[in-house]
Parts: sequence; structure tokens; C-alpha cells
Amino acid sequence: MCGIAGVFEAEGASGLVASILFAIQHRGQESCGAAARDAAGRIVAHKGMGLVKQVLDEEVQARLSGTTAIGHVRYPTAGCSDEVNAQPHAIELAEGPVMAIASNGDLINYGELRARLEREGVVFKSDNDAELIGRLIALYHVRDGLTIEQAIARVQGELKGAFSTVLMYKDRLYAFRDPHGFRPFVMGHLGHDGEGEPLSEGTVFASECCGFGIIGARRLREVKPGEILRLEKGKPVVSVSHTPLQPRHCVFELIYFSRPDSTIFGESVYQTRERIGACMAAKDGALADGDDLVVMPVPDSSNFIALGYAKAKKAEFGMGLLRNHYVGRTFIKPTQASRDEGVKQKFNPLPDFFPGRRVVLIDDSIVRGTSLRKLVRMVRAAGAKEIHVRIGSPKVIGPCFYGIDTPTREELIANRMSEREICEYIGADSLRWLEVGDFEGLLPGRRQAFCTACFDLDYIYPPEGFAAKTNTPVVRGAAV
Ligand code: 5GP
Ligand code: SF4
Ligand code: MG
Repeated sequence: MCGIAGVFEAEGASGLVASILFAIQHRGQESCGAAARDAAGRIVAHKGMGLVKQVLDEEVQARLSGTTAIGHVRYPTAGCSDEVNAQPHAIELAEGPVMAIASNGDLINYGELRARLEREGVVFKSDNDAELIGRLIALYHVRDGLTIEQAIARVQGELKGAFSTVLMYKDRLYAFRDPHGFRPFVMGHLGHDGEGEPLSEGTVFASECCGFGIIGARRLREVKPGEILRLEKGKPVVSVSHTPLQPRHCVFELIYFSRPDSTIFGESVYQTRERIGACMAAKDGALADGDDLVVMPVPDSSNFIALGYAKAKKAEFGMGLLRNHYVGRTFIKPTQASRDEGVKQKFNPLPDFFPGRRVVLIDDSIVRGTSLRKLVRMVRAAGAKEIHVRIGSPKVIGPCFYGIDTPTREELIANRMSEREICEYIGADSLRWLEVGDFEGLLPGRRQAFCTACFDLDYIYPPEGFAAKTNTPVVRGAAV
């Protein structure tokens, strides 16, 4: 999971990119970077490990002068924390100029394409998908004599998987997206009133639009799945080509990854989460109402799911768990012991909140079961008399191959234990998930446009050797 940003022909472009990246910092905290084109046409990049405010500070922004810039925040993945994998990547072209690229997503055929390029003598500096996309485009452009747009289109057709990409080339900026539209990608403008395609000057791009307001930009539209956009000074934004396939928007973006104040894939993130909560509440008719009932999120990712649940059930919404925002993500820590410790440091119960109360504890997902096992114990020790856990996504039974770092199938608790066993493992009085079938009602008429593969194993491009549809979960036990 990562985030990208781009700004074309606006004063202080690298500062605007840094502001957008700061707003989408939730999409990646391991490393970040920006690249800008200066007045002489040179591309200058700066990347580093750490957060946007630290890496892209004012001194760096001043050094990255120029009116066009791109940037990236990278998701921390266990094991490969490495500055060489930070983005954007600068790619040298034989004819002199350098281009720069930043991308969000994962390619299924990365290994095959990299081997092919290495056989042709291409040298890689990282293990990063974005560098591969850039080097492939450069090869087709320089070696095969395709125009840059023909090269992008050819690469777009050859890549399998997810990519939302910004590319600086000479004095232009390109934005292109995979034909399935797995990851969000949106275009905005610093001055345009929203009618028709804007002038290229002042156009901005981001994984999510939640940073646009801060820089005074308006959200215009998504970069369409399979689209290539060209930005050139003095001209309108041009949709060079548009070759979509069946959309496969990541439903997990709506449930968990994206910020609630973003609109992605044509859906408001917070409203979708409230609908999920309401859907869960509708199935919980048997859970008696009463003054002792409190609906509580695991903050912050589940806040709106819990709010939707509480509204629908006309029950009290309470924030009984406080979250320390200075603890990084616990999910990606490398060992179980460090994940356990991380959860303990991250959450603390409110004093005198729980005694005598029945709690509906809402989380967005169960992956290994680490968080809830700790939290249910914490809430029980704080005095709750019953704890009913509700999960705003279906059971995670498969890995993601499209840009999200999920553990192996064997580590996923839903593949190792029955529902009753998981309920006992986390120590809850009852446990319920959203069901895959619920997406029909939650995304009316649009269900087919969404990827739900980590919940139902319906993968597009599963890697070789992954027999998705025939792969039933490892263990299936009796339902609760
Ligand atoms: P678990 O503790 O069950 O292993 O993981 C689920 C928790 O991790 C949830 O609270 C969720 O908010 C958080 N989380 C952090 N990163 C990810 C991710 O990449 N995927 C999923 N599904 N959950 C994540
Ligand atoms: Fe999203 Fe899951 Fe599909 Fe990955 S497999 S793109 S996380 S829905
Ligand atoms: Mg969480």
C-alpha cells in the first residue's frame, strides 16, 4: 500500500506535493520522496526513510524548485525497509533527459518482466514495481523508437496487476492507471471550476482527494481505469487513450485503507463505512437494546462503521478505547511478540467507562487475530460484562496480490480456526463478520466493479501455482 501525488505547473510544486503526501500519510509511513523539474529542465529528487514532515521539510522543498513535481509515500513492509525502494525513481534516457516515476500497486508479472529486461542488459537499482514500469517505458521509447505515449500504452497493456502512476517526462506530466482500476487515483485542479477538462496548468493528482482542500484544489474526477492523461503547458489535459477492462476496485480501500473524508471509486468512504455498520446492526436484531449497551469502535479505522451501527440500532456510541497516535502500525511488525506489545502500547481503556456495560466492539478486519485478542481482554479487565465483536469485513482467507501486504494464507486466522474457535481465541461472548453477499446491498448495482479476492479467492491474475478457486480454506470448523 502506498500513495502518490503529482502537481503540474504551479508555484511551489514540491511544497504542494508534500502537503498532499502529508494528507495521505496513512497510505505509507516507511519512506517517502519527491522529484521536481527545475527551471533548467533538470529533475531533482529527494527521498528518505521516515515521515513526510521529516523527509520533505522546508529546506528540501526549497531545493526541489520548479513548478512541476511528483511524490510518493511508501507502506512499511516487514523485511524490506530500504531507502533504495523509496520513490520516485529517476530513470535516465539515452537522449539526455531524465524522467521520474511514482506508482502505487503491485505487479503480478514483475518477476517475469524483470528477468526479460535484465536479459536485455537493463540494470535495476531497486526491487520496486515503479522502477520496472519506468525502465520498460524507457526501453520501448529509446530502443524501439516508440513515442513516449506509445511506450506507456504498450507497457500499460503488458503489466498485470495494480498501478496508479505519475510520470514526469521532459516538460510534460503523464498520469496513467491499470485497466482494472485496483487502487484509487484522482485528479483535481487549483483553479478550474469543474466543467470539462481543465487547462494543464494547476492540475494535481493524488491517490485520494483528502489533501486537495488543504492546498486549495478541487476534486475533478478519477483517472479512469486504463486511461493515459497528458499534461502540457498551455494546453488542456488530454486523455490520450482509454482502454479499460472489467473494473476491480479494491473493496478494502473503502473498508479500511482510505481516509473517511475521501471519495474513491465514486463512493464516499465514510458513508460506505456507515452503511457497513448499519448492515451489521440489521443482522443483530437478537442483541437486546438497553441502556447498558454501548457501541464502540477500535479507533480510528472502525469509527464510522461503529457510528453506522450505533445510529441504526439507536444505541449509544462510545469511545471507550483511547489510541496513542504516536505508536506506528502494529500490523506490520515482524514478530508476534512485537505485534502484541504494539497493540498494548497503542490502546488504553477509559477509566470507569466499562463496569456493568455490554459492549459491541467493532473492528474493520481480523487478519491474524492479534489486535482483538488483546483488546477484548483489555475491555473485559476494565469491567465490561459482555463483549460482542463485530467485524466490518468478511473473513480474510487469501492474500492480496494487488498492492497490500497481507500475511500468508497459513497465518490468516480464518484459515486456521473455526468461527467458534476464533471467538474463543479472542475471548469474546459473540463474534460476527460482514458476509461477502452483503456487498450486493452495500454497493447497489456496482458489486461486479469491486475486487473481493482476499475474502472469496476470486482473483484476477493469481500468480502461477496459486490455485485460487480450488483452494478451500485450510481448516473449516463448525459455525458459531
Ligand atoms: P490482526 O490484529 O487481526 O492481525 O489485524 C487486523 C487489524 O490490523 C485491524 O485492526 C486493522 O485495522 C489493522 N491493519 C493494519 N494494516 C492492515 C492491513 O494491511 N490489512 C488489514 N486487513 N488490516 C490491517
Ligand atoms: Fe483489495 Fe483484497 Fe482485492 Fe487486495 S485482494 S485488491 S486487499 S479486495
Ligand atoms: Mg485497526
